Amino acid sequence: MEQTLSIIKPDGVSQGLIGEVIKRFEANGIRIAAMKMLQMTKKQAQGFYAVHKERPFFESLTDFMTSGPVVAMVLEGENVIEKNRTLMGATNFKEAEEGTIRRDFATDIEKNVVHGSDSPETAAFEISYFFNQFEIIK
Ligand code: UDP
Repeated sequence: MEQTLSIIKPDGVSQGLIGEVIKRFEANGIRIAAMKMLQMTKKQAQGFYAVHKERPFFESLTDFMTSGPVVAMVLEGENVIEKNRTLMGATNFKEAEEGTIRRDFATDIEKNVVHGSDSPETAAFEISYFFNQFEIIK
């Protein structure tokens, strides 16, 4: 069974989309193995997105990600990294497939409602960034 990290970003929480996003995961056979709401500090957001630190959008992205609470989840299921990325849709919501979370609810390339790990290596790093082993339910 594979695991991945999902985050409902501040724009998803403020639009009242927590239930909608979780409903889509569960309806697609994905199990929620851990979940918490938190508001990231700037340092936490910078560490989480460290791979993007040279990118022009880094400053704005880390400000946005600290602008309100987020919901972090460990998702579990067969092929869940790719499955979650499919449900999310492309980074730029204008290029996202119909019926995806980002196509339906994103308002901007930055404010795109959800985050999802993009590989097993990033999933391992990102899960351990927010959860310890006792918080992930077997
Ligand atoms: N982002 C942005 N401008 C860009 C590309 C990305 O603001 O030109 C933001 C957006 O919120 C995105 C996040 O940075 O979700 C991380 O970018 P990445 O390329 O990893 O996209 P993702 O994996 O989230 O689809």
